[in-house]
Amino acid sequence: MNSIKNVYFPKSLKEAVALLKKKNSVFMDSGLYSFKNINNGIENIISAKYMPKYIKKDSKNLIISSNSTFDDMENNKFCQSLFDGIISKAAYNCSSQLIRNMATIGGNIAHPNAFNIMPVIAALFDSKIEIYNFKGKAIIGWKDLYSGKYKPGKDCIISNIIFPLNYNKQNFYFEKIAKLKSSWESYLTVAFRCDIKDKKIRDIRLVFGAIRAIPYVNYEFEKSIIGQEIDEKLIENIAKEYKNNILSFAPNSKINIYRAQVAENLIFSYFNSKIS
Ligand SMILES: Cc1cc2nc3c(=O)[nH]c(=O)nc-3n(C[C@H](O)[C@H](O)[C@H](O)COP(=O)(O)OP(=O)(O)OC[C@H]3O[C@@H](n4cnc5c(N)ncnc54)[C@H](O)[C@@H]3O)c2cc1C
Repeated sequence: MNSIKNVYFPKSLKEAVALLKKKNSVFMDSGLYSFKNINNGIENIISAKYMPKYIKKDSKNLIISSNSTFDDMENNKFCQSLFDGIISKAAYNCSSQLIRNMATIGGNIAHPNAFNIMPVIAALFDSKIEIYNFKGKAIIGWKDLYSGKYKPGKDCIISNIIFPLNYNKQNFYFEKIAKLKSSWESYLTVAFRCDIKDKKIRDIRLVFGAIRAIPYVNYEFEKSIIGQEIDEKLIENIAKEYKNNILSFAPNSKINIYRAQVAENLIFSYFNSKIS
């Protein structure tokens, strides 16, 4: 039996944070994940249902409110046109239409699972996350959400997910490798971006999801190939590096051996298209 006594529908973040201060409270977006998994002892649900919802652009960033659904993102003109449409494409790859109508980016990022798509996208953009906690507003990096310092939904509310427009000219790629597109399951979810000029790598980000809850990014390796000329040999080195690293997560697991092979193939096809 659950212990829920009140469901509140604040209209602003200020109101929502004030309600969150009540003992045994939790913040919910659509409740798709949390309603089923709610802890015993929770008495107050604070719902995002009537909080402002938007996907907007300022001079520097695309800003998505946390209560935007996957369907909102899939069909939004900015998500479809900026960054080669990768945000729209990634949103479309979440399960079925019914789930996309409900699931929000805030809930997806707040509580990561290996199959969650939006942490992969946040990692791709090194997204900043705007949160409100009991002290006020703060802007944190996407990784900070998972540092253990924050308990999203309990001691802070994610308000915005921020995507820098200065990546807009880069070359983007997204793929979710799954048995069924309409399933939450994924063997491997990848999101890549790069900036290559005169065959030299000026910027790169390769993100691999579905391996573990927090997406895998090899920052050191990325740094080591900035400035290098992209040719067949470098592509082979990149593919080998990620294949071996992904393999090392679980060398004896059949699924993981498959993942490592898929990662290698996707890297080959992504970069080969850049030099041909
Ligand atoms: C059948 C099924 C299939 C699915 N398939 C996929 C899939 O293919 N790909 C994928 O990525 N995901 C998939 N999901 C997961 C789904 O996308 C997430 O459950 C959803 O995004 C969570 O959003 P929500 O609004 O329902 O969050 P909620 O359930 O409301 O909240 C989830 C958690 O986050 C916290 N939280 C929510 N919003 C905030 C906020 N603004 N600030 C702070 N904390 C917050 C809550 O307290 C709770 O702990 C699937 C889920 C189901 C049920």
